[in-house]
Amino acid sequence: MSGGEKQRVGIARAIATDPQFIVCDEPVSALDVSVQAAIVNLLADLRDRLDVAYLLISHDISVVAHLADRIAVMYRGRIVEVGRRDEVMAAPHHPYTEALLSAVPTIARTNHSRIRLPLEARRSAGFAGCVFAGRCPRRIGPICDTTEPLVRTPRPGHTIACHLPLGAMAPA
Ligand code: SF4
Repeated sequence: MSGGEKQRVGIARAIATDPQFIVCDEPVSALDVSVQAAIVNLLADLRDRLDVAYLLISHDISVVAHLADRIAVMYRGRIVEVGRRDEVMAAPHHPYTEALLSAVPTIARTNHSRIRLPLEARRSAGFAGCVFAGRCPRRIGPICDTTEPLVRTPRPGHTIACHLPLGAMAPA
């Protein structure tokens, strides 16, 4: 079977028991782009028809944005930004969210403006700062290495963990 056919079988097996909740862990990461779109549309269709909820885990924020009502952006096991889909997809962004969004090709923003993150540097024991400090292109300074980021709240229910003031986070 092709990758798309195997994924359809997996989805059929998951819904056979009439679940209310399904965990979709990287459901399209191994598929061609054209097949990805078909599987994402299938998942959206099943969600609406069967009234099932998904917990979707993906490195591709465009896939998440297509299916999710709420998005939590995680880095090294920490939630760095969380909110309703439209809030997380609109500025201001956590610097990691900004990097993930820059990897999504659009007509206005092509791969040429993609933010390429450096490799993670080894951390010292007892590191107490921001989990993203070792790769952050917007790093402010030593405070990022020593102090847990402040929780910014651009809108009720939308939070961003970062020392940057909201006004300094990237525009859309
Ligand atoms: S706290 Fe500092 S290192 Fe962490 S995301 Fe914000 S600017 Fe970057």
